[in-house]
Amino acid sequence: MGDLSGRHGLIVGVANKRSIAWAIAQAAAASGARLALTYPNDRLEENVRELAAAIDDPLILPCDVTRDEQIADLASTLDREFGGLDFVLHGAAYAPSAELSRPFVETSREGFRLALDVSAYSLIGLARAVAPLMEKRGGGSIVTLTYLGSERVFPNYNVMGVAKAALEASVRYLAADLGGRAIRVNAVSAGPLKTLAAAGISGFSSILQVYRERAPLRRNVDLAEVADAAIFLLGPASRGVTGEVLMVDAGFHVSGI
Ligand code: NAD
Repeated sequence: MGDLSGRHGLIVGVANKRSIAWAIAQAAAASGARLALTYPNDRLEENVRELAAAIDDPLILPCDVTRDEQIADLASTLDREFGGLDFVLHGAAYAPSAELSRPFVETSREGFRLALDVSAYSLIGLARAVAPLMEKRGGGSIVTLTYLGSERVFPNYNVMGVAKAALEASVRYLAADLGGRAIRVNAVSAGPLKTLAAAGISGFSSILQVYRERAPLRRNVDLAEVADAAIFLLGPASRGVTGEVLMVDAGFHVSGI
């Protein structure tokens, strides 16, 4: 797949070995990139450090994406250590569990604020912080992870669907804003995968079942398939692509029934 050798990248969103961001980190490292991985809190730091031991010479840095000062510190450390940045994988998302089980109409103001802050605003905050580092390299690529729940209703996906709609709109506005600086912004819309984030959605296994029955490929996707698409968007092979949401869902989104 894409050749990332000699490139420096930031991966946000590794929690454990099932994280989509971890699959992408492994694929990016295998393509030759030097990586920085982040952890959002002390509880997850050890997980990230243990996983990262499997890749060559990573930087491990704190970043809770709801904290502007942590995003700023992250960018200045990357600037100092890497002297610029070529790509960012944004895989952070969160909604309080109560918002993913009660009726959508019961969504709380605070739950909405937090879900949109972590899952959508963070892409804007990160993009702003890394854009000067990417300009030093003559441009860069930013990729985020989204889900079809942005456009269609899935049981219990609730406020996360609203957050993904905001995230995808942000991809388009950022692409327009940053394109003049040769920075591309895209999303991979993955089919359902059993990760920590997915475990928070009640009835998730029935979504997997429906995909198996109705997706044109009659199966679910796996982490490696999503990672390969992300590597394409992060690397030079996609140099003409920006503002795009690339569906990697075994074709499920085209099914009318
Ligand atoms: P995951 O739980 O492994 O990853 C979510 C990540 O968000 C975790 O690493 C967590 O630490 C991070 N995070 C949460 N709050 C944060 C904060 N305040 N600051 C920094 N990081 C924070 O689960 P995943 O499924 O790999 O999710 C990664 C992305 O993929 C998410 O955006 C998710 O919505 C998206 N996605 C997942 C699926 C799926 O079925 N699993 C499908 C499509 C899209």
